[in-house]
Amino acid sequence: MRKVLVTGGAGYIGSHTVVALIERGFEVVVVDNFCNSSPLVLPRMAEITGVEPQVVEADLLDRSALDDLFSVHQFDAVVHFAGLKAVGESVQNPLLYYKNNVAGSLNLFAAMQAHICLNLVFSSSATVYGDPDSVPIKEDFRLSPTNPYGRTKLMVEEILADLGNANPQWRIALLRYFNPVGAHPSGSIGEMPNGTPNNLMPYITQVAAGTLQQLSVFGDDYPTKDGTGVRDYIHVMDLAAAHLAALLKLPQQETSVRAYNIGTGVGYSVLQMIDAFETESGVNIPYTITNRRPGDIAECYADCERSKRELGWRAHRDLVEMMRDQWRWQSLNPQGYR
Ligand code: NAD
Ligand code: UDP
Repeated sequence: MRKVLVTGGAGYIGSHTVVALIERGFEVVVVDNFCNSSPLVLPRMAEITGVEPQVVEADLLDRSALDDLFSVHQFDAVVHFAGLKAVGESVQNPLLYYKNNVAGSLNLFAAMQAHICLNLVFSSSATVYGDPDSVPIKEDFRLSPTNPYGRTKLMVEEILADLGNANPQWRIALLRYFNPVGAHPSGSIGEMPNGTPNNLMPYITQVAAGTLQQLSVFGDDYPTKDGTGVRDYIHVMDLAAAHLAALLKLPQQETSVRAYNIGTGVGYSVLQMIDAFETESGVNIPYTITNRRPGDIAECYADCERSKRELGWRAHRDLVEMMRDQWRWQSLNPQGYR
């Protein structure tokens, strides 16, 4: 493994993974259409690594652009992040999500097959589990996503399972991420949500920065430790390391397709997250309790034994680092990359 194509490599998780890959000596080519990212992330990556990754601005829906890319470069593997990820938007505009996430992935896999590049790490999501019967969640739990975004992830997983059946030479790792938070410790790269954030952490930091007035805590009557929703938050640097581990393990992977939970195995409630942020930053977060957000589940955290055993990977960073790095990124870049 030497040369890797990273789709969506300008995005939040992609940019951190590209940095980890470059630091590990990989030659990286990024393909991104910048629909949810900025080319300004590229010099930031160069600042951190000393190397600016090659970037091709293209849409995965453009099959001929992908063929050109695979004709010019001989990739050993692909890490596939490119996709749309807003649950609410996927409910409003499902066709956009099926087209971008499923049809875009089909184009990519067809180009990989045509150019005999059969090593893939795919960004899946814990949303494929839907509302689990119990926690912690294991990889063999029932898959039952509750929204179009989650269904695009499950569909792609199923397409990949069929590809692996058809040609057992494929080596595919499905990484089911739990809740990515935090940023690179340099404060140079991080998440840049468009408009008002949907996710808890960027919402908290924007309240702390004064961009937003107060946080709504969506429900305090869940059957959890303090009544608020519980999630498995994972530092994006640990997530980037998981991609590196999965990529390096692909040649030894026993089955052509394998799913891995990528979380910490620990669940924190919304109130615990607010408290941890206030303690770390010294900034008070005003909040009110509101109704539950439709479609939310009470509790979700991972059993990560398989990733530990088979990938030799586990999360190392705790809540304090997640808060510190997220806050540093927000404080240094109040306008994102602008
Ligand atoms: P992001 O939006 O920051 O990054 C995705 C990148 O893909 C962006 O740079 C975007 O411009 C690009 N892109 C989207 N559609 C494209 C297309 N058709 N052609 C080319 N480029 C395209 O998102 P992220 O948080 O970094 O997520 C990366 C992946 O991980 C996504 O597939 C997402 O569904 C998945 N995931 C994210 C989370 C999360 O909470 N962030 C959780 C689980 C899974
Ligand atoms: N949450 C909240 N207020 C917000 C955003 C999120 O109370 O403004 C809660 C949400 O109900 C959930 C947790 O924070 O219990 C994590 O939400 P997020 O959207 O970040 O992740 P997901 O729900 O997709 O796991």
